[in-house]
Amino acid sequence: MTSNKVEYQKILSQIQNEFSDTPLSGKVASYIPELAKVPSNKFGMHLYDLDGESHCFGDSNERFSIQSISKVFTLSLAMKMVGDKLWNRVGVEPSGDPFNSLSQLENDSGIPRNPFINAGALVIADVLVSAFSNPKAALLAFLHEITDDSSIDFDETVAASEQAEGYRNYAMVNYLKSFGNIENDVEEVLDFYFHQCALSMSCKELSQAFIIFANHGKILGSDREFLTGQQVKRINALMQTCGFYDEAGEFSFEVGLPGKSGVGGGIVAINPYYYAVSVWSPPLNPKGNSALGMAALERLTTLTGFSIF
Ligand code: GLN
Repeated sequence: MTSNKVEYQKILSQIQNEFSDTPLSGKVASYIPELAKVPSNKFGMHLYDLDGESHCFGDSNERFSIQSISKVFTLSLAMKMVGDKLWNRVGVEPSGDPFNSLSQLENDSGIPRNPFINAGALVIADVLVSAFSNPKAALLAFLHEITDDSSIDFDETVAASEQAEGYRNYAMVNYLKSFGNIENDVEEVLDFYFHQCALSMSCKELSQAFIIFANHGKILGSDREFLTGQQVKRINALMQTCGFYDEAGEFSFEVGLPGKSGVGGGIVAINPYYYAVSVWSPPLNPKGNSALGMAALERLTTLTGFSIF
């Protein structure tokens, strides 16, 4: 990049100041009981640029439950393992429905609209359970490699908490199996899914992991290709069109970057060839996306003056 590089740290500090007195709107997720225990005032942001520089504020180093953000990692692994055959089992269209909706599956004969709604992520989980003898270890190994941090792990308490109350996901996977779109034992698929959602990572670690989606599938300073250019192009397109469920249009409209949210209050977005950015604020808006996180990212693309559009 050139000497007139955007002053990301200045912009992040401005965002922190702008929101420091704003009353929090939204509600911390409580349908996974363990998530309800997280203080609602946590707020952190971390931007990792393609020069390898980090810019951050607040609770950006604290780990939290990444929940549906994990769906980007599992999709990446599944694309590497089975290639285009994947698209026989899951679609690539925005659903316009909530993340945990069951209703479209009936009309779509058990083929989920996309890999980022729960139904699609459960099919991807099934693909990984078939592809690896130890899918949880394979997922951790992938994350350890792309972040160069082998301490990233599942939070077993969060996984158990979701399993104990995960009635909709149990219904979903059984429904998918009735259409023949789940190969493995439903308990095994759900165990993997609840664990992927219970991955614990900080904004800093998420930005480092997501840099591969901003950098042709490579980590910075290495020629090793974790994903091909074509795979990255497709994953980014899916994040753009489906990363925020029935709020994907609104996120494009407000922020204008491919991204993915989770009910733990995290959002990761990338600006291809420039940066990966993560934000964490637990209270969610009615669509299940971090309210303050979205507002902070809107300010980022406004203050920097560029999004993908
Ligand atoms: N584990 C959560 C669920 O299945 C993930 C949802 C989300 O983050 N949007 O309901």
